[in-house]
Amino acid sequence: GTSLLWFRADLRTVDNTALRHACLSGRPVIALYVATPMQWHQHDVAPIQVDFIQRRLLVLQQQLRELNIPLLIFEVGDYRSIPELITKLVQQYQISHVFCNKQDEWNEQQRDHDVGLALANMQVEFSIVDDSCAIAPGRVKTKQGEPFKVFTPFRREWLNVYHSLLPEAQPAPQAVVVHPVTASLLDQDDRSTPFTYPKKDSVLWPVEEDAIRQRLEAFCSEKVQLYHQHRDFPAIDGTSCLSPYLAIGALSARQCISMLRSSFPLCLEPSDQGAFCWLNELIWREFYRHLTEAYGKLSRNQPFHAWTSKIRWRDADEDLKCWQQGQTGFPIVDAAMRQLLATGWMHNRLRMIVASFLTKDLLIDWRAGEQWFMSHLIDGDFASNNGGWQWAASTGTDAQPYFRVFNPTLQGQRFDPTGDFIRIWIKELKDVPNKYIHTPHLWDGANTLDYPRPIVDHKLARLLAIESFKQAKALA
Ligand code: FAD
Repeated sequence: GTSLLWFRADLRTVDNTALRHACLSGRPVIALYVATPMQWHQHDVAPIQVDFIQRRLLVLQQQLRELNIPLLIFEVGDYRSIPELITKLVQQYQISHVFCNKQDEWNEQQRDHDVGLALANMQVEFSIVDDSCAIAPGRVKTKQGEPFKVFTPFRREWLNVYHSLLPEAQPAPQAVVVHPVTASLLDQDDRSTPFTYPKKDSVLWPVEEDAIRQRLEAFCSEKVQLYHQHRDFPAIDGTSCLSPYLAIGALSARQCISMLRSSFPLCLEPSDQGAFCWLNELIWREFYRHLTEAYGKLSRNQPFHAWTSKIRWRDADEDLKCWQQGQTGFPIVDAAMRQLLATGWMHNRLRMIVASFLTKDLLIDWRAGEQWFMSHLIDGDFASNNGGWQWAASTGTDAQPYFRVFNPTLQGQRFDPTGDFIRIWIKELKDVPNKYIHTPHLWDGANTLDYPRPIVDHKLARLLAIESFKQAKALA
C-alpha cells in the first residue's frame, strides 16, 4: 500500500507532524492538496491569501520532490466533494493509510468526519494528528478539566504544560522517506493553472523556505529585544510580520518558539521583557485556537457571551462603507483601513482601534467587520480573527469590558504621535501640521482638504454604545 498525506493549513515540510508520521509508516508517500473555491467564498477567504497559498504550494511541491513525494493538487467546489475525491485516489493509488494535521474549526471538523466515514468503509486507516499549536488545543485545561475562559490563567497553565512537555514541544526532526514512489508519479505532479478565484497578487510576501526562515531569524536577533516597546507603534517596523506564514502553516508556532528560545534562553520568564512579550502573543494565538476547539458555536457566527446577541446593532450601510474605504474622518482609522485595502495586512494596534471604532462608535455588528477583515487579510485566520473581533466588540471571552471604549483620536495621538503612519496612507493630509494631524477638521486650512469631517461624534457615540450594551445585558 501507499500512504496519503493530505495538506490543508500546514504548507511546510519542516516540523510537520502528519508528514513525519506518514514517512514513518515505511510506505511510499503521496501528498495531496485540494483547493475548494466555493468553500473559500463561503468562508470569505481573501484573494490575496489564495494567491499566497498557490505560490507556496509550488515551493512545497519542489521540497516534497526532494523527499520523493509527489504533490497532487486538485480543485473541487466545496468540502462536500472531498470524500468522493479521496475515495477515487485511494483506489487509483492503492492507498492504505491517510494522514493529516487536525483543524479545529467546525466545517473542517465536519469535513474530516465525513472523510473518516468514507475511509472506514474501505478499511483505510485515517490518522489525524495535532500540529497547529505548540500545545495542542484541549491540552491546556483548568484543574476541573474545563477550558480556560480567561487569558492570564491560561498562559500560566500553558507555561506549566510547556515545561512539562519539553522536548516534545520542540520542532520535529526533518522527515525522510524510505520508499520512493515511482518516478512517473513525480513527473505527473506539475500544476501551475491558477485556482478559480478572484486574483490579488501576494508577491510582496516571499514564500521560499530560506526567506521565511531569515525573517524569523532576523526578527529574533534584531527586534525581539525591543518588541515590548515598539510593538504598539504602527510607524515602527517592530513586529515580526510572520502572521501570514503562521496562518497557512508555512511556519509553525514550535519553530517560532524554538528560535526565540535559542536567542533568549530565558524567554519563558516575564523578566525577559521583549522575548516574553512576543511569546505572550504566540500564546494568545494558542488561546484562541483552544477556544475554537472547545466552543463550536464560535465557528457558527455566535458570540461567546449569549447576552450580547441581544444588542441592537445599527443597520448603517453608508457608515459601514465609510469604514471599509477609510473615509470616516478619523485619520488613524482611515489610514489603517487603507493599509488593509492596499496591502492585505494591518498592524495589531490598528486592528484593535478600527474594530473598536466599528463596533462601538458606529455600533455596527462585529460580524460585518470580521467578514471584511477575512476577505482582505493575507493572514486571515479564523480563530485569531474571530477572537480579535469578539475581544474588541466585548462579546468574547476575556474581552475588553463594554464600558471601556477606545477614543480613536487619543489612540492616534498616543500611538502615532506625529502622524508618520497616517501620512503614508492619507496623502490628502500630508501638509497638515502635527498638532492637527489627528483632528484635521479643526485646522484653519481644513476647507482646502479633500478629506471627510468625522462621521460621528465620539463622545455621544460612546454613551450610546454603553447604553445599548447595558440594555442588552438587562434583557438577558
Ligand atoms: P507579532 O506581533 O510579531 O506576533 C507574532 C505572532 O503571534 C503573530 O504572527 C500571530 O500569529 C500571533 N499573534 C499576535 N498577536 C495576536 C493576537 N492578538 N491574537 C492572536 N494571535 C496573535 N491575526 C491573524 O493571524 N489572523 C487574523 O485574521 C487576525 N485578525 C485579527 C482581528 C482583530 C480585530 C484583532 C484585534 C487582531 C487580529 N489578529 C489576527 C491578531 C494580530 O493582530 C496579528 O496576528 C498580528 O498583527 C500579526 O502581525 P505580526 O505577525 O507582526 O505579529
